Amino acid sequence: MAKQDLILLALNPSPILDLMERALTAAGFGLGIVHNRSELDKALQETVPALFIVGEKFVDMDGFSISAEILGRFPTLPIILYADKDTTGLAKSALKFGLSGYLYPPLKMEDIVNEVQRSLARARQLGDWLRREVKRTTSSLAEKADLSEAERQKLEAIIANIQDGIVVMDRKKNIILINRTVRDIFNLDKKDVTGLALEDVISNADFNALLARASNDPLKYHEINFDDGRVFNAQYTPISKIGGAVTMQDISYLKELDRLKSDFIHTVSHDLRSPLTSILGYTELVERAGPLNPNQQEFLHRLQSSTQHITALINDLLDLGRLEAGFDTRREFVQLQNILEYSLVMFEVQVKKKNITLITDIASDLKTLRANPIRIRQMLDNLIGNAIKYTLPEGTVRVSMSMQGDQIVLKVEDTGPGIPPEEQGLVFEKFYRATNTIDGVEGSGLGLAIVKSIVDSHQGRIWVESTVGKGSVFIVLLPVQE
Ligand code: ADP
Repeated sequence: MAKQDLILLALNPSPILDLMERALTAAGFGLGIVHNRSELDKALQETVPALFIVGEKFVDMDGFSISAEILGRFPTLPIILYADKDTTGLAKSALKFGLSGYLYPPLKMEDIVNEVQRSLARARQLGDWLRREVKRTTSSLAEKADLSEAERQKLEAIIANIQDGIVVMDRKKNIILINRTVRDIFNLDKKDVTGLALEDVISNADFNALLARASNDPLKYHEINFDDGRVFNAQYTPISKIGGAVTMQDISYLKELDRLKSDFIHTVSHDLRSPLTSILGYTELVERAGPLNPNQQEFLHRLQSSTQHITALINDLLDLGRLEAGFDTRREFVQLQNILEYSLVMFEVQVKKKNITLITDIASDLKTLRANPIRIRQMLDNLIGNAIKYTLPEGTVRVSMSMQGDQIVLKVEDTGPGIPPEEQGLVFEKFYRATNTIDGVEGSGLGLAIVKSIVDSHQGRIWVESTVGKGSVFIVLLPVQE
């Protein structure tokens, strides 16, 4: 077993060297003996021995320094140091330098062989352990690499085949990844577009507007329209350390459904208006036709009020239909504060009845707006009407108008019940009424939908800031230059 092992000896000529030579040869080891530094270097260049024995003094060198240097090159090589005598420091230094053993006189042949075999066995154990560890680590690394490659392929397959359109881009908005759906949407065929600027590859105004707003004001919902009538809903999501991603879903069918629904409502409302007008007319005639007893009078008034209610609802629906169809193109120079005055006059009775404090705060530098005055009046009526309607008696309603750059900022503030955060985006939808609406406060849920359509048609923005139990502020931004 140990027959092939080569032991390298770096000892000054002495009887001990002879003894070692004899003992180790007899035990079947191969021996290499060097007599100076250059012989040692040469021997180590040619082969790495199984074990190295060095004298505490070798020629004019220190055995410990030589050992440290050799261990630096071959960290697992077992080294035995031979010292002329045992000193207390010998064992300590041997340990400190990482030697595997030491020998000192008196020495018998078997002492030498035993120490060599012990060191070799220990080195073999260490070598086996190291090999096992390396194998284990490399195989687990390979396993991990296999796994992450499999994961990557899986992810790529998912993104490639997903129905939603997905584009991933770096921070400079260059394409990192684009899936088949996006290629189909923008007719990109099989062109390799990776690395190109997204703006150069996709030339759609809505899409580019989404990208332009992506970094500072990411929009949750953004519609992308195509000339052929297709409509997509798109979202930008920032991805840290990468850049961002745009996902797109085809909502053309939803848009079509919405259009059909609006057409239906518009037709039905239109057809209902004429019979309602005649019902209202006849109820008025009944009163004039002859004296009615108090009961009949009461029923007739209820009938009239219900009919007026339905008529108002139908007018709202027809208005909304017209606004959504984009028929509102009338534009005039409008002084917002003048329209506000007319609107406030209309609410005087209600304000008095509920003892509401009404405050107006109109900036003196308010610019003229190019707008449809009838629609602007309708917008103010609805917002102020709601504020008064939802505010409890003794509350406060505040209307302010100011300039912010080229935009008029209108704020209608109240001390009403507020709107729960999760419903604040929904109150602008048709027929939506918040869950905390006060009992007995009537409404159709159409007012804010109309307001939103009016604001949209004037290229403005509207949103609500509200705290339940404290009140709401409806904020409208209207650009003065359309
Ligand atoms: P409605 O005819 O029900 O008032 P709107 O479209 O004007 O319909 O408003 C939608 C819903 O938004 C209302 O039903 C109400 O729940 C809520 N809302 C509107 N304005 C206010 C307000 N000033 N304070 C509290 N809730 C409001």
